[in-house]
Amino acid sequence: MSLVIVGSVAFDAIETPFGKTDKIVGGAGTYASISASYMYNKVKLVGVVGEDFGEENLNLFKQRKINTEGVEVVKGGKSFFWSGKYHNDMNTRDTLITELNVLAEFDPKIPTSYQDCEYLLLANLTPQVQLRALERMAHRPKLTVMDTMNFWIDTALDDLKEIISKVDVIAINDSEARQLTDEYSLVKAAEKIQKMGPDYVVIKKGEHGALLFGEGRVFSAPALPLAEVFDPTGAGDVFAGAFIGYLAHVQSLSFNNMKNATIYGSALASFCVEKFGVERLMNLSNEQIHHRIKEFVALSKFDM
Ligand code: AMP
Repeated sequence: MSLVIVGSVAFDAIETPFGKTDKIVGGAGTYASISASYMYNKVKLVGVVGEDFGEENLNLFKQRKINTEGVEVVKGGKSFFWSGKYHNDMNTRDTLITELNVLAEFDPKIPTSYQDCEYLLLANLTPQVQLRALERMAHRPKLTVMDTMNFWIDTALDDLKEIISKVDVIAINDSEARQLTDEYSLVKAAEKIQKMGPDYVVIKKGEHGALLFGEGRVFSAPALPLAEVFDPTGAGDVFAGAFIGYLAHVQSLSFNNMKNATIYGSALASFCVEKFGVERLMNLSNEQIHHRIKEFVALSKFDM
């Protein structure tokens, strides 16, 4: 039994009101797998990098005991590169550069050792690759969760709709849910997305928390009011990784566990934003995670 994560593995250059980075390790698959590794111990990554990514960066995954047999290294190739600049509110950003590089020709191969996959996260990357990865699973996973981004809504809408029709859960941010459905109301947007396929829709709202829709119910998770938000990059991927990692760990898909998964997703995302890149995520302790979960519980508990 394992959790397979398919997603971009990248170099990012980020600018926030608090500073700027040169090329640092990023990518949705990177953030999601590191996050999931705190919830569950059999995380297997599928992705592609160029030769420029280097052994030292692949070691980040080894440190978190993430299986990288499914990460292809293209000889002489350049890794996916994304650059973004955050506005002063830190909630909105402009994409400055998206260079697909080796991602443009990526044909995902699922190693035989990954075919015990019961939980599958199709993290943000080309919808066509998400579709192929799902098709190449020998058995239908117990749960398939996906994420996406405005870039793919703009450039690959037909493929995106096809993959959305095949998953159980979609985690998507508020502006993307609005863009996908042409609905301002997130309730109406979630209803429309459910009609496209997924039984559950999680709408991530950055510093305003997350909404979980499913089984005719809604759950609203808060976001922790943080004194310092340094770099929101990857928070959505970290959310998705911890969300599915928690469900793989508890082996139950009840609505209550979906709610808990939403809280774990929010908690791990709250660490991610405290430093640039994956730095804050590399050395979390179980105590730190449990303490933060308690803060989330305290935040939304009240007596009437
Ligand atoms: P998030 O902040 O959760 O939206 O995720 C940001 C991460 O997504 C960055 O580390 C980027 O490398 C990665 N990313 C940006 N654009 C894309 C894209 N079009 N496809 C896949 N991954 C992307």
